[in-house]
Amino acid sequence: MDYHRKTCESEELYSGTDKDAMIVRFEKNGETQMTEFLVTHFIKNHEAVEKVSVRTAYGVLASVVGIFCNVFLFGMKLILGLVLHSVSVTADAFNNLSDAGSSIISFIGVKMAEKPADEEHPFGHGRMEYIAALIVAFLVMEVGFTFLKDSFSKIWHPETLHFQAISITILLLSIGVKLWLGVFNRKLGEKIQSKVMMAVFADSMGDVITTSATILSLIVYGLTGVNIDAFVGLGVALVVMWAGFSIAKDTLEPLIGEAVDPEIYEKIKKYVEKYEGIVGTHDLIVHNYGPNRSMASIHAEVPNDVNIETSHEIIDRIEREAMEELGIFLVIHMDPIETKDQQVLMIRGQVEELLKKLDPDSSIHDLRVVNGEEQINIIFDMVVPFRYSDEVKERLQYELIDGLQKIDPRYQCVITVEHSYVSAQEAETPKMGENEK
Ligand SMILES: [Zn+2]
Ligand SMILES: [Zn+2]
Repeated sequence: MDYHRKTCESEELYSGTDKDAMIVRFEKNGETQMTEFLVTHFIKNHEAVEKVSVRTAYGVLASVVGIFCNVFLFGMKLILGLVLHSVSVTADAFNNLSDAGSSIISFIGVKMAEKPADEEHPFGHGRMEYIAALIVAFLVMEVGFTFLKDSFSKIWHPETLHFQAISITILLLSIGVKLWLGVFNRKLGEKIQSKVMMAVFADSMGDVITTSATILSLIVYGLTGVNIDAFVGLGVALVVMWAGFSIAKDTLEPLIGEAVDPEIYEKIKKYVEKYEGIVGTHDLIVHNYGPNRSMASIHAEVPNDVNIETSHEIIDRIEREAMEELGIFLVIHMDPIETKDQQVLMIRGQVEELLKKLDPDSSIHDLRVVNGEEQINIIFDMVVPFRYSDEVKERLQYELIDGLQKIDPRYQCVITVEHSYVSAQEAETPKMGENEK
């Protein structure tokens, strides 16, 4: 979800130049066939992207192709540089050799992420992939920074440009290879939701932009004799640094711990609620330990008049089957809930209805009723969005209590306010008690 948004963002980055148009044209040609050829020939079972072994195969393919492309460019430019006695072409060759670095890092990351869980890392090594992506992001920033430095020094000490057909040819060849490599990584990255491949995509596009800028200033110089090299470089450097920064931000999110994707939230919730004997769920928390490796906890509501051993048996079965079917290590906490007592059902209905009117973005769960001599105590948890300030939370509680006391002055509320772990959760009232299985 979030992933896709980020992808679009980095694409926007490159509009302004004619990169988007280039990518589109590129994809319509033989490039798609080439990607399909590589995927079908080198990845066994390539549709089963949720399997760790298949993911790894994708990662290995992408990095090997990346290493190959860069080493190819290196060899080509080195030979040309030596034959032509051109220092700049030779230097450019070594630049490509260092570009192979991000592919090597991605290869190591993918390989390390594949390692199964062990004594020291019982949650597996899936997060290694995020760390690899972070390192590539820093490499992208470094490219931008170097370009920035060079551009500044060119502003103070302008260099004479040499408009040579051979250097333009080499630069164009570089752009072609890098463009293909970038699109290839983006395709595979989208397919297996890989942050490191999206980082390599941005890395390649950074190279495409910097090289295009060099060609542009060479052409402008050739036609008009005006040297715009340094100023074009300055703008390009900032764009590339920003691209690196946004990848770093994007890959840091799962490392810091991010909110549950609403889609995954719904999937787990529905999965647990489909079992006979589970009345409802709330308080889902998901911890991500790398692509396709998650640990989660959820509260399951069970009728309070069912034997605790019976409910526990169901819950144990759900935990086991969630592991087998969803690949999620799920821990379920059991909440007994009233399903028959008319007074409790009525009060729960009143609270839910009132809250829905006051604030449809909030919800309640775990409601209990304790009858006292002169008062009726209503105890429940209220889930509010993260964005609410303490003031808003307090006012909402006050209005809720006030409204309930207007219904029945004996009502006394004990409210625990909590936050949801789902990102921008759809407003949803937990269907407690009466939902049909
Ligand atoms: Zn609960
Ligand atoms: Zn148990």
